[in-house]
Amino acid sequence: MSEQGTPIRYSVITEKNPREIVMLRGSGCRFKRCRFCDYHLDSSKDEAENYRINREALAQVTGQFGSLEVINSGSFLELDKKTMEEITRVCQEKKIHSLRFEVHWMYRNHVAQWKEHFKELGITLKIKMGVETFDDTFRREIFDKGMEGASPEEIAKTADEVCLLFGIKGQTKESMLSDIKTGLSLFERICINIMVENTTEIHPDQEVIELFTREIYPLYIQNDRVDILLENTDFGVGGTL
Ligand code: SF4
Repeated sequence: MSEQGTPIRYSVITEKNPREIVMLRGSGCRFKRCRFCDYHLDSSKDEAENYRINREALAQVTGQFGSLEVINSGSFLELDKKTMEEITRVCQEKKIHSLRFEVHWMYRNHVAQWKEHFKELGITLKIKMGVETFDDTFRREIFDKGMEGASPEEIAKTADEVCLLFGIKGQTKESMLSDIKTGLSLFERICINIMVENTTEIHPDQEVIELFTREIYPLYIQNDRVDILLENTDFGVGGTL
């Protein structure tokens, strides 16, 4: 995310699984190791300021689709308590029945209690997890994702949806198709992110991106269970005003 300008923190996704989306600010990703990621720069230890920013973003939610996705450049458990209460309040006020949070694998044992908490309020909590690939070696050695040995089936016990990251040197048509196939067989939805240049040591590989765009994108672009983000601002949040 650019450090200049005010980040856009609210948007509406009208195609496929229509929903509103807010990008909130938390205390910062506790993992922070994924080699391709600098999203976690959007964070602060100043809880009062985070809450002020988050309340402003949440105030824009209308409830038009009854569905809200909350991202926070980390895991939802890194949001402050008042923000969590505000999310709950807004969901109830705007009659939102479907809520999405993102979470890292290391928090997997905390998810069930939150699903239960929201269920009691009539809200279905869906969990989105960045797995990036189901190739455990690639995930460990290239991405340093912190999910060593996690099988797709185990991940599916916690996550309802997964994010995949394509456009990296070493990925092939077969590897990308295999990740998509596994994702669609075990999860409700998948979100494919294409690597973009950022401040990290991992760079997009134009040949892999072209291969994806030419041979895979056309196969899945109409699939309602597949979101494809060619740019990481394609959901409408994360850019700047
Ligand atoms: S991808 Fe997610 S878990 Fe990994 S460092 Fe970035 S914010 Fe943290």
